[in-house]
Formats: sequence, C-alpha cells, structure tokens
Amino acid sequence: MPLVYFNGAFVADTDAHVSIFTHALHYGTAVFEGIRSYGDGQRAHIFRGDDHYERLRANASLLAMDFPWTPAELTALTVELLRRNRFFDDRYIRPLLFKNGAEFGAGLPPGETLAIMAAPMPHGPGTGRPIRATWSKWRRFPAAACPAGAKIAGLYVNSSLARAEAIARGYDQPILLAMDGQVAEGYGANLFAVFGDQVTTPPATADILPGITRATLIEYFQKHPDLHLTVEPLAPERLQQADEAFFCGTGMEILSIGSIDGKRLTHDEQSGPVTAAARAWYKSLVTGGLPDFGHWLTAVS
Ligand code: PMP
Repeated sequence: MPLVYFNGAFVADTDAHVSIFTHALHYGTAVFEGIRSYGDGQRAHIFRGDDHYERLRANASLLAMDFPWTPAELTALTVELLRRNRFFDDRYIRPLLFKNGAEFGAGLPPGETLAIMAAPMPHGPGTGRPIRATWSKWRRFPAAACPAGAKIAGLYVNSSLARAEAIARGYDQPILLAMDGQVAEGYGANLFAVFGDQVTTPPATADILPGITRATLIEYFQKHPDLHLTVEPLAPERLQQADEAFFCGTGMEILSIGSIDGKRLTHDEQSGPVTAAARAWYKSLVTGGLPDFGHWLTAVS
C-alpha cells in the first residue's frame, strides 16, 4: 500500500481521509504543486524541489494559510516520502495544502492540512507526435479577478473547462488567450514560439502562471549562443506564423505544437530543431547529466 504524507504523518493512502464538510472541497481553497522526480530504479532525485515549495509558500500566503515549514524542509519531507515508498522511478509529486475547516460560507477560515503524494509518470509523456492545438473559447482569468499566477485549486476550473472543450472538438490541447486577446498559455503549461533565431514567450503580465519549466528554459535560451530570447506579448496571428511552438511544464516537459485549429506550423510532422534541442537539453538536465545545474537536484537515495 503506497504511503502518503498526511496531516503530520506517513500513512497508507487508503487511510488518508477528509470530511465531506472540508472547506477546500466546497470552495477550492487549496494550493498545490506539481513536482517531478526522476530515477533509474535504484536512485532518484527531485527537480527544483525548493523552488516548487517556495511557490507553494507564496500561494499559501495568498490564502492566509499558516506555513510553518521552509521550502528545504518540505523537499526533505518529499525525499522521505519517496524513500519510504522506494519510489526510485520517474514520479509526479503532488503536495496539497487545503483549508480543512467544516464551516459553510466562502472566506478564508483558519486551519490547513498538508498532504503529499506521488504517482508514476514516465519521462517524456504526451502523444508521441506534435500536439494538435486549438484556440480555446475560454480566456485566462485576469489578474484583477483572481491571482492569475497562483496555483490555487479553485482557479483550475478554468484549465478543466478549456481542456475538456478542446478535447470535445477533437483537439489535443487548448491555447488560452488573456482577456486582451494576446496569447497566454496552455491549460497546464506555458508556451514558447520560435521565429528563425528569435524565441519568445508571453510575459507574466499576460495572466499566465509563470512556470518553473518556463524559468528554466528562459535561462537556457538566454545563454544560447545562436538564439535571441524575448519575453513579450504574443498576438495569436503571430503565433500562427511561428516556425515552431511548444508547451512546457513540469508534467508535460516540452511538447511540440504541430498545428493550431488545423493550420500547420512550418515544422509539423516532427519537432522543429529548436524545440528538439531544448528538449534534449531539458532531458539531460532533469536526469542529472548537466553538473552545472546539480544545485537544482535533490538526491533521494
Ligand atoms: N500554467 C499552468 C496553468 C500550470 O498549471 C502549470 C503547471 N504547474 C504551468 C503553467 C507550468 O508550470 P511549471 O513549469 O512550474 O510546472
């Protein structure tokens, strides 16, 4: 029986129960993370654990939650969870901090529970072919309505609606625009576009969730000798003209976008060269092949 961390202890997942009255279940008052660990069966490591837990801390403060841990303590707790379970393969780790109060009514009542769980997720998921994307009929919610950059559970109804609507129309994934009509991101991933030797990604002001994978790739492109990176608003008409485009996120890693609403990007049958090179770099990064970035990895065993 896999163990999960739940309310201060490691328990069998079947013993981690919540009440039907739980505030977070009614109002989405929870914050969460998606972290990956990569392993060869014998040894594993967590990628950018402290950065994910720092984001969890920042999001928890938006919901007025108590957060008595440092990010490093939570990374250590996650190492312990993986070690106790002998999870030395590729995993997706889900920390969830939720309002556990039992009162009705929106608001931010005190009282939180932390859970951390891990499920198998092989490196390099996806369709195996470039994604058939579509312009979502749903817009990203503006920062004036909700903290658009926060990983708050209730806000994910936006992603759920967008993804379900794209799939219902026969596409793989939606691309969401911000309220001003500029490109924002995917339903659980950021987006980059390539125009010759220019690479661009929408800024945080485009109501995106500024991902850790996006930040990682911004570093990669900024240091790239042959490519020029800009972080600037991206019009949908311009994205449609890109040579290459891809989604990036912890779970998806780097997924090539082959077409948008059936209109092909130039590199449609396979990833374009910039996307392919970024993906190869990212793979060696997260699997421990780049010693310069060793500080982003935390060993599990
Ligand atoms: N946007 C959204 C809406 C997301 O849910 C995610 C996944 N956390 C991302 C972008 C990518 O973020 P990260 O690279 O930190 O996983």
